[in-house]
Amino acid sequence: MIPFNVPPLYGTEEEKIHDAIQSHKICGDGEFTKKCNQWIEVNTGCPKALLTTSCTHALEMAALLCKIQPGDEIIMPSYTFVSTANAFVLRGAKIVFVDIRPDTMNIDENLIESAITEKTRAIVPVHYAGVACEMDTILSVAEKYGLYVIEDSAQGVMSSYKGKALGGIGDFGCFSFHETKNYSMGEGGALLINDEKYIDEAEIIREKGTNRSQFWRGKVDKYRWVDFGSSYLPSELNAAYLYAQLEHDKEIYNDRMDTWNRYNAGLQDLKEDGKIELPFVPEECVHNAHMYYIKVKNIEERQNLIQYLKENNVETVFHYIPLHSSPAGLKWGRFHGKDCFTTKDSERLLRLPMYFRMPPEYAECTINTIKKFFARNR
Ligand SMILES: *Cc1c(COP(=O)(O)O)cnc(C)c1O
Repeated sequence: MIPFNVPPLYGTEEEKIHDAIQSHKICGDGEFTKKCNQWIEVNTGCPKALLTTSCTHALEMAALLCKIQPGDEIIMPSYTFVSTANAFVLRGAKIVFVDIRPDTMNIDENLIESAITEKTRAIVPVHYAGVACEMDTILSVAEKYGLYVIEDSAQGVMSSYKGKALGGIGDFGCFSFHETKNYSMGEGGALLINDEKYIDEAEIIREKGTNRSQFWRGKVDKYRWVDFGSSYLPSELNAAYLYAQLEHDKEIYNDRMDTWNRYNAGLQDLKEDGKIELPFVPEECVHNAHMYYIKVKNIEERQNLIQYLKENNVETVFHYIPLHSSPAGLKWGRFHGKDCFTTKDSERLLRLPMYFRMPPEYAECTINTIKKFFARNR
């Protein structure tokens, strides 16, 4: 069976974890965490990055830093992972979903303004498949109405928009290092703080509401409870695993890009025959080959194709069930405007096997099996 995903493993992770063990500091914020934070700062230009236990937790930290209150409204796409919404629902906010663009599956930037009310506090663009949302429009709407922009850049590590790294564009950016993402530590993430005025507060929230980070740096002589907070910092063991991969960021990037390009070239014929649609990357976006997806006619055809690929030993998966029609989404959210593409296109999308060091034959086999399916169903 060709698996859909294999967690990234470069080969030097065990060595790094061994080093972490030998350093006799395995709790958070040791040398490896610092190195990961620095890697993010250097590669995104953000003034401060803080490694977290997940992207979910980075989003929760952003919601706390934005002081989201019960009744506040947050605008985001419905075609996203549950954590994008949960982080704000936990603060009592209402989620206002707007439709996506069918070409990138990202929030339709032109529908955001009409969804804004007096209660709106933030916009949360999600960079689907590591392809950037139309950030210039989003930033200008946010500025006009005084709203926060929190980028859910879980899939966008090493992607850019007009030369700016994703996660480093809004007020806050959130990365994921889950095992399904391009660079991983098992479970983990990072909060990118793009406005320096939030750095001290973010460090306090992440360290259980204490000023422990300042204490370690020698800025205060004892640490104490100074504000609300939780424990959002990962162990050094996890950070060591991640750093092993960040050291080889380009190699991992290029390897995934080779697979992505192989799919994209191999599936052109089917696209030209009008059988399937392929991903679209706008000119101003550089993506990171996080995902390769195709879109078929409808949900029935997708189910048949998944089944056919499975019978031929290729594992493929669909993606998000739109949040607005999910039980929790009905309770805490509402869809603004018409759902033209969110439901329809989410039902047509199929993700193909894609992971670091996937053998080229696997991509070829997947391509050929898809071609056979469409030849058979002519
Ligand atoms: C993976 C993902 C998350 C959640 O990341 P975790 O690190 O597992 O919490 C959030 N949003 C999007 C868009 C994701 O793809």
